Amino acid sequence: MPKESQSIPDELTALIHRAADMVCRSQRLVVFTGAGVSTESGIPDFRGPGGIWSRYDPDEFTYQKFVSSSANRKKHWVISRNMFMKEYEPNPAHLAIAELDRLGRLDCIVTQNVDNLHQKSGVSQEKIYELHGNTRWVKCLSCGRRYPAAEIVQRLDNGEEDPPCLSCKGILKPDGVFFGEALPQHILQEAIFHSQHCDLFMVIGSTLVVYPAAYLPIYAVDAGASLIIVNMTDTPMDSNAQLVLRGKAGEILPAIVDSLKTRLRSRNDE
Ligand code: NAD
Repeated sequence: MPKESQSIPDELTALIHRAADMVCRSQRLVVFTGAGVSTESGIPDFRGPGGIWSRYDPDEFTYQKFVSSSANRKKHWVISRNMFMKEYEPNPAHLAIAELDRLGRLDCIVTQNVDNLHQKSGVSQEKIYELHGNTRWVKCLSCGRRYPAAEIVQRLDNGEEDPPCLSCKGILKPDGVFFGEALPQHILQEAIFHSQHCDLFMVIGSTLVVYPAAYLPIYAVDAGASLIIVNMTDTPMDSNAQLVLRGKAGEILPAIVDSLKTRLRSRNDE
C-alpha cells in the first residue's frame, strides 16, 4: 500500500490516493497555482485568512495609482520590499510539483504567482507560464531597462523611497502584472492552449476569482479535462471538480506524489 502520512485524516487520504490514480492515468497534466502554494514558504496570499487584502485596500494598488504619484509608489515599494522582494525558498508543495516533472508527469505549470519559486524548485523555465510576471525583475516604464530586484532592494534599503531609472530617470515598477494592467498576451495564449489540450487540470492554492486566469480551469473542463482542486477554502469551481482536497498544499502534494510513486513502481513490477 502507498505510504501514509500520520497527520492526514483518513477521508483526505482516500482522496489523495484517488488524485494519485488520476495523475497516474493522465497523459497531459497542467498544474495551475495561486498564492496559496507559496504561503507555506512565508509569502502571504491576498484573499486567504490573514491575506494581504485583509490589511490593505486593493484599490490603492492598481497600475493607475502606481504611475499617478510618487507618494503612491513609495507606499507600494514598502509592501513589495517587505512581501515580494525577500528571499524565499520553495516549500514541500513546490518540491512535489517539481518531482511530478522529474517523473515525466507534468505538461506545464501555469502560475499566477510572481515569486519565482517554481523555477527555484527545479522546474525548467520553458514549462512555466507566469501569467502575472515575476518580481525578481524591476522594469523602467520609459526606456524598458530591466534591473534584477536585488539591485533595487539595495537602493530601497539605502533610503531611496521611489528609485528612478538610472538611465533615463523614468518610473521603475516591479515586473509583476498589477490590477488594471494587461497580461502578457503570448503567455496567456500558451496557457489557454495547454489548458484546452490537457486531460487533467490541477488547481493548487487559488481562490479562482482573478480573471482572466480563473477562466483557465473553465476552458479545461469545457474541453473535456478532469479537474482536481487542492485549496484550503471554497472556490467557485468546486462543483465542477472530480476531486476537491481541502487542506495544506505542502502536505497534500507530497502525499499525492508518494502515492503516485507507489503506483508507478507496482506498474513497473508487473
Ligand atoms: P488568493 O489570495 O486569492 O487565494 C489563495 C488561496 O489559497 C485561498 O483560497 C487560500 O485559502 C488558499 N491557501 C492559502 N494557503 C494555502 C495552503 N497552504 N494550501 C492550500 N491552499 C492555501 O490568490 P490567487 O488565487 O493566486 O489570486 C490572487 C493574485 O495574487 C494573483 O494575481 C497573484 O498574482 C497574486 N499573488 C501572488 C503571490 C505570490 O507570488 N506568491 C502572493 C500574493 C498574491
